[in-house]
Amino acid sequence: MRPTKMLAGLAALGLTISLAACGGSDSDSGDTASDSGGGTIKIGIKFDQPGLGLKNSDGSYSGFDVDMAKYIAEGLGYSEDDIEWVEAVSANRETFLENGTVDMILATYSITDERKQKVDFAGPYYIAGQDLLVTADNTDITGPDTLDGKKLCSVTGSTSAQKVKDTYSTNVQLQEFDSYSKCVEALLGGQIDALTTDDIILAGYAQQYPGELKVVGQPFSEERYGVGLPKGSEDRDKINDLIEASFADGAWEKAFDDNLGESGYTLPDPPAVDRY
Ligand code: GLU
Repeated sequence: MRPTKMLAGLAALGLTISLAACGGSDSDSGDTASDSGGGTIKIGIKFDQPGLGLKNSDGSYSGFDVDMAKYIAEGLGYSEDDIEWVEAVSANRETFLENGTVDMILATYSITDERKQKVDFAGPYYIAGQDLLVTADNTDITGPDTLDGKKLCSVTGSTSAQKVKDTYSTNVQLQEFDSYSKCVEALLGGQIDALTTDDIILAGYAQQYPGELKVVGQPFSEERYGVGLPKGSEDRDKINDLIEASFADGAWEKAFDDNLGESGYTLPDPPAVDRY
């Protein structure tokens, strides 16, 4: 262990123990949550995105990100019982990794150069594209160029809201909430005309409200989903290996089919992992 790591360990003992377990230097310590109180891993996910990251009414968690997180945690030596799920919203993901609230994040989290100043990413493990969700009876919104004068909803701290501000801000009234489910409520309630974020997220909501909501289906960005890690994490290579293993052994496809197989959204090819 390097001196810097030891100093970090004094400052945040629990986190360092779990990272040591991640690094494989003491592979048994991650197996039981009870042995020293250090054998757990805190994973940030969304709680309100069906098909991706969802806290169910019975207290369980489900979604593509949840299943990928379980697979990665298992590969790092943690059983499902060792995982502490933490709700991350779009705006607090970097902060949660910087201040140790979580050890890693799988929350429809796009890899961007700006975010890479503050955090590291393994992956990508999926490539989505920004799209629009409208009510099933809507006929006038057919793509991002048809939003003139429309009320559009997105989430603070997301690449989706940023793209609207950078590209379409003059003609669109943007309403920002802290979570996409609040945008869905506003869309169903008629307070907004469309919701914009990644197509896979929108597919999950459309699947939740069949016949009421539909995805426009004209993606206008590339969103490369990464596993967010604290800057300098020693686990990035191992997690990249695990992501590739999930492509090869069918776990990635199963995670998609189990959670979004009914959404009408087709699984694209697995992306090339970026070993930066
Ligand atoms: N993937 C985009 C992002 O990371 C939008 C989805 C989200 O906010 O979670 O900002």
